[in-house]
Amino acid sequence: MAPLAGTDATLIVADVAVIGAGPAGIAAATRAAESGLRVVVLDRGLETGGQIWRHMSGGPVPRIAQHWIAQLSRSGAQVIHGTSVVDVQHEDAEFEILADSSGSALRVRAGRIILATGARELFIPFDGWTLPGVMGIGGAQALLKSGASFAGKRVIIAGSGPLMLPVAASLANSGAKLILVAEQARRSAVMRFAAGLWRAPALVAQAARYRARFLSTSYSTGTWVTAAHGADRLESVTVTNGRRTWREAVDVLCTGYGLIPNVELARLLGCETRDGAIAVDAQQRTTVANVLAVGEATGIGGAPLSLIEGEIAGSAVSPRARVSDALLRKRAALEIAARRMLDAFALRQELRSLPSAETIVCRCEDVSYGAVKDSVCARQAKLYTRVGMGPCQGRTCMPGLDFLLAWQPDTVRPPIEPALVSVLSSELADDAAASILFNSSVGDAYQ
Ligand SMILES: Cc1cc2nc3c(=O)[nH]c(=O)nc-3n(C[C@H](O)[C@H](O)[C@H](O)COP(=O)(O)OP(=O)(O)OC[C@H]3O[C@@H](n4cnc5c(N)ncnc54)[C@H](O)[C@@H]3O)c2cc1C
Repeated sequence: MAPLAGTDATLIVADVAVIGAGPAGIAAATRAAESGLRVVVLDRGLETGGQIWRHMSGGPVPRIAQHWIAQLSRSGAQVIHGTSVVDVQHEDAEFEILADSSGSALRVRAGRIILATGARELFIPFDGWTLPGVMGIGGAQALLKSGASFAGKRVIIAGSGPLMLPVAASLANSGAKLILVAEQARRSAVMRFAAGLWRAPALVAQAARYRARFLSTSYSTGTWVTAAHGADRLESVTVTNGRRTWREAVDVLCTGYGLIPNVELARLLGCETRDGAIAVDAQQRTTVANVLAVGEATGIGGAPLSLIEGEIAGSAVSPRARVSDALLRKRAALEIAARRMLDAFALRQELRSLPSAETIVCRCEDVSYGAVKDSVCARQAKLYTRVGMGPCQGRTCMPGLDFLLAWQPDTVRPPIEPALVSVLSSELADDAAASILFNSSVGDAYQ
């Protein structure tokens, strides 16, 4: 998108604005646009596909991703990349979204919003986690997909959840020396979960395919990393299984304790959340009229569930508003598997004692665990220490602190993501006309 002069914002008017172009947003936008609605999709990423279908530019794209991205492009929905939504206001029957679009201000007016903002990793701080060489599990996957090399590096993956499997497989494939995959959940819980997957043979086959790629590496349940060590960068980690504690020499530690839904925009709009996810009804409607939510923002369940929820929401906003029973049945089955997964990979109590008083918890503002651990709530800790008030606005540290200290999430205020002051102070010029995005080829300029 061409940069805009001054502080004037570009205006786009649509029937439906979808925020997020991962599997959930793609499916929602496709079905809504196929019904004749004017649909605009905003995503901060530079490609369509979200976290899972992120791929190397020009590299191979998974077949299912190709299928959905082709459907989206045929549907007439307009996708605007490199665009972070930082605020959204509700006036009369219309929403106005403010976005930082590659440094320029973009305002989108729409009668309905579909939130498809996905999830991010949960990090629990421990001594040494800020050393170079320590990274998120999904972050490592993202680096691999963008062409980074881990060849010859000694790597440990430690954390929780099924995401460890594809990442271990990718790392092994890329030539990394995978030393250990440490899953904190108990063996009995993981085995029960695996045994219950007989209703989903495709998932079992997929897990077996991933495991086959790192068979020579131990996948240890009931095991976690308690500290990372090194002078200027990671050299070793301390690992425990609760009975025995030992050191492993490593170059890279990939760590993360599952995913947490991105609910900031929903909370800004006043949507209710339940167990940390956006609460939705059978048609994916939130508690705020004309705001729907889909995918991992409504609960962690994997890409197949995200796609189905997207289809349901896209059909629910269409003029005929007819959601097929088959889709509802498929969603119900996948939701059961998702709930069982959350139970199986529930975080153990011992992780609550991972950080020491000296452990840095907020990397942006350099705040230690000792400085915040006696605060009764996030608001108090912020006032005294500025924890969570740096550039990432607490997106990295606050969920971990909520887990460690049983804080309730603090209120959300705009901007929900870092944005240029010129974007935040932008206004629509008096003579601003809505972009003609839907009856000409102008939309192509944004793709
Ligand atoms: C780092 C990471 C890596 C992962 N890797 C894998 C993997 O390799 N294999 C696997 O099976 N699963 C992976 N997952 C899980 C996978 O993301 C989900 O199962 C699936 O992608 C969920 O689809 P979704 O559409 O709900 O969300 P996502 O795919 O996460 O899509 C959400 C989209 O919303 C956009 N967005 C969010 N907030 C804003 C905003 N304010 N403004 C603009 N855009 C916004 C994001 O840029 C993103 O593209 C990963 C998850 C994470 C967090």
